[in-house]
Amino acid sequence: MILLKNCLKIATFNRNLDELSGYDILIEGNIIKSISKNIEVKDAKVIDCSDCLVIPGLVNTHHHFYQTLTRNLRPVQDAKLFEWLTFLYPIWAKMDQEAVYLSTKLATLELLKTGCTLTTDHHYLYPSGFNGDLMGIQFEAAEETGIRFAPARGAMTRGRSNGGLPPDEVVQNVDDVIRDMERVIDKYHNPEPFSMKRVILAPCSPFSVEEDGMRETAKLARDKGVRIHTHLAETRDEERYCAERYGKRPLALMEELDWIGEDVFFAHGIWLNDEELKLLKDTGTGIAHCPTSNMRLGSGIARIREMIDMGIKVGLGVDGSASNDSSDMLGEVRNAMLLQRVRYGEKGLTAREALLLGTRNGAELLGFPETGSVEEGKAADLAIFDISHIQYAGAHSDPVAAIVFSGYCHQTAHTIVNGKILIEDGKHTSIDEEELNRKFRKKAEELWEF
Ligand SMILES: [Zn+2]
Repeated sequence: MILLKNCLKIATFNRNLDELSGYDILIEGNIIKSISKNIEVKDAKVIDCSDCLVIPGLVNTHHHFYQTLTRNLRPVQDAKLFEWLTFLYPIWAKMDQEAVYLSTKLATLELLKTGCTLTTDHHYLYPSGFNGDLMGIQFEAAEETGIRFAPARGAMTRGRSNGGLPPDEVVQNVDDVIRDMERVIDKYHNPEPFSMKRVILAPCSPFSVEEDGMRETAKLARDKGVRIHTHLAETRDEERYCAERYGKRPLALMEELDWIGEDVFFAHGIWLNDEELKLLKDTGTGIAHCPTSNMRLGSGIARIREMIDMGIKVGLGVDGSASNDSSDMLGEVRNAMLLQRVRYGEKGLTAREALLLGTRNGAELLGFPETGSVEEGKAADLAIFDISHIQYAGAHSDPVAAIVFSGYCHQTAHTIVNGKILIEDGKHTSIDEEELNRKFRKKAEELWEF
C-alpha cells in the first residue's frame, strides 16, 4: 500500500472537476482505494504531499518514439513538413532493433518524468531488412520503464516510385502489413480493464498509404475491437496532395474509406472547415492535438476552442521528437493553453481545460476509461508535482494552474503507474539513467553520419 499524505491539492478531473485540499490518497495494489482526510493504515509506504499538487497521470495520444534519435537536426530545424520528412526518411531507414529499444526506453522515461502515465506510440517505420518483432521490442522497453502503453502498429505502403512521399526502402506491401497487424493484436492486445497493454492500428497518412491499406486496416480493427489512428489535415501541402491525387479533401477521403467514428482519432486536424468539424462531432471521431509540433513546423493552429465547445473529443500529444523536440508532456499542456490564446484571445483555453485535455480526455481517446481521473476505484496512475520549488514561488494562490502558468522544469517529484512508484524524487526507481543516456547518444550519433 502507498499513502499520499496530506496533499496540498488534488485536482481530481472527475465529472465534477472536484479539487480537494488536505486529503490523503490510499493506493492498494494497482487501484486508488480511498480518498479521504486523516487515513490511518499500518504498513503503507507514506509520501508526504503537503507541498504537492496531485493530478491524474497525463496521457499522451500521439508520438513517434524513434524520432528521439533525430532531434534538432540542423538541416531541418527550419523546414516545413514535406521537406522535413523527405530529408529525414533516409536517416530513419537506418533504424534497427537497438534503435527501437533505446528510443522507446528513453521516450517513455522522459514522459514519466514529465507526469505522463499512459502513452501511445505511432511507429510506422519498417525499413526493409529490419528483422525481429518490432512491437515486441517496444513492449519490452516499456515494461522496463513501467509506463501504461498502447502502441499503434503503423505502416507506409506507397513509396516514391508510386507517387508517395517516402522512399521505397521504408514501405511495405499491404498484405504483409495487415498480417502483422493481426499478429500484434492477437499477441499483445489486452482489452481487460486496467490492462497495461493495448494495440492501436495506424497507417501513417494519406500521402504514404494506399487506399486498400486504409480500408483493410479499418475492417481488421473493427473485427478485433481496437482503435484506429492516422495523421490528418496537418498541412496545406497535404490538402493539395489529396486534391490532386483523389480529387477530395483529406477528411472526405477518410469518410469514403470508412475511417470515421468513435473508434477513430486523427493526429493534428488543423485544416478542417466548419462542415468537417460537424462531421467529427456527429460521428464521435477524435483529435490528438499536438501544439508544440504544429508551432515547430509552422503547420497552423488547430480549432481546439471551437472543437471543445462543439463537444468534439480532443486529447493532447507531444508528437514525434523530431518535431517537438522533446517528450515533455506537461510542457504540451502549457503550449496547448497558450497557442489557443494566440488564435482566440485571452479566453482561448484555460489552464484547467488544457489539463483536462491532457488527462481524462486523452484516456478516453486511447480507450482507457479506467484512467485519467483521481477517483476511488480507478487505476492508481498519478503525477505528483512538488510546487514548493523556486520555479513556482509566488504562484500558490492557485496550485492547480501553477504547473501550467509557471515553472520551467516540468518534472514530477513522483510518478505512479498502476500502483507502482516509478519516479521517486525525480529519478526512475530502477533504470540507470546515466547508462541509458550514454548508449542512446552513441546510437543517435551513428544515425546522423550523413
Ligand atoms: Zn506525428
